[in-house]
This record gives sequence, structure tokens and C-alpha cells, in this order.
Amino acid sequence: MGLSLLRIALHAGIFALLTVLTQIGGMAWVLALFMRRRIVGFLTLYILLSVATLFVAPLFGRVAVTCWRDGPLQVQSWAYCAMNRTYMVPELVEVLDDAAGDVAQARPGTVTLLLDAGFPFGDGFPLLPHLSHSDGRRADLAFFYQDETGYLPGRARSPIGYFAFEQGPTACPKVWPTMRWEMGWLQPAFPDVTLEPERTRSLVSALASDGRVSRLFLEPHLVQSLGLSSEKIRFQGCRAARHDDHIHVDLR
Ligand SMILES: [Zn+2]
Repeated sequence: MGLSLLRIALHAGIFALLTVLTQIGGMAWVLALFMRRRIVGFLTLYILLSVATLFVAPLFGRVAVTCWRDGPLQVQSWAYCAMNRTYMVPELVEVLDDAAGDVAQARPGTVTLLLDAGFPFGDGFPLLPHLSHSDGRRADLAFFYQDETGYLPGRARSPIGYFAFEQGPTACPKVWPTMRWEMGWLQPAFPDVTLEPERTRSLVSALASDGRVSRLFLEPHLVQSLGLSSEKIRFQGCRAARHDDHIHVDLR
């Protein structure tokens, strides 16, 4: 059977989806189209290209925070590494390492968790659904959490670190269109752990006092309840994604 329009559209859709999710996945899919066993071919190519990217991206100014590092800064989920979403400029790795190190020095055993950062290649290639993570100079960090036994190292409330919102007062009206997702249906699914305020406050303070950091996003009700104050801690606006489930860091 020849390439019908429908098949071309299907493959274009798969290419677009894989590219949007992982940047290099689309290319792996196109190459796999020439192989007899397409799925096996895709997976093999994707893994090979991803590993090669670990070594090639630094030539273009981006390095990965890998999932096999240990120490105070670690990636929250293997999914972020597998999807090539933990790349950033080397200076940002230093900033995050330093801040995570500060928190761990004050409270040994603390693990700061990286969520989405950026893709390995290109400026202006957005890391959806984040609109701004397109230049390797931005990263998201998870909050710290605790239960009745105390701090839970390496644990976030949500399995991917996002969308487990700390509810609090907001001045935002319900507007549309908006990235300020409520996800009310999802909230009861998250485990009953609570924000660990001491470490979360220490991490935000360490980042805010770092001259290399230009801006942090954190929801105003958390800035207040954590007793934080810094000109660098901003509100992202009512149409942007909520920041009462994670911390967003911008490099200067
Ligand atoms: Zn962000």
C-alpha cells in the first residue's frame, strides 16, 4: 500500500507530538519509518540519539542534569530525563546545585528535586506547556513535603511534581483563555502529605539571594505564609500557570 494522505497526516502528527514532547523524538520517528520493525527501530534510535545528545548538547551550550546523579540536587522523575527535558546552561546547574547544597548543609539529607528545565537544542523552542522555558535559562523545582513522621526526602506530592496545588487566597478572577488550570478533579487523588515550610523557605531564600538569579515565580499566598520577602519573587499573572505547586527560577 502506498503512502496515502491519511498515512502522511498520521506520521506528521506523530512527528509533531514526539518533537513537542521530547524535541529529538520526532527525528527518531522519521528515521524509523525507513526501518522494517518501526517501533523497535524508533526506541533504539531514540535511546541512541538521547545518549548522543548528552555529549553533543554541551557543544551548543546546554548540559543535562542527569537522573543518575545523587547528592542534594536530583531529578524528580525519570520521565524528565527520558524526555530530554532537564537541559540548561551550565551556569544554571551551578545555581541550582549551590542552592540545593545550602539547604542540605542546614538540614542534612535534604534532596532538592528538579522538574522541567529545557530541551537540549535551540533558542525559542518552547518546552510545552511552559511558555518561557525556551532558552536553557529557566528551571522548575518541586516543593518539599512532610507527613506525620517528618520530612520526606525525594518525595513530591504529585507523581510528576506538578499540579498538586497548595490552595490559598488569590486575587485572580476566573478568566478565559488561561493557563491557570485548577484541576479540581485531580486534587483528591494526591496523597495526604503537606508542604514542608522550613526547607521550602530556605530554598527560595537561597535562590533569591543569588546574584545570578533574576526572578522567581511563587504564588503570593505562599510568599506570605512562608514569610518570604524579595523583589525577585514575582507573581506570574492570572493567565499564566499557577505557582503554588512548584518554584520557577529564571537566570539573569
Ligand atoms: Zn517554570
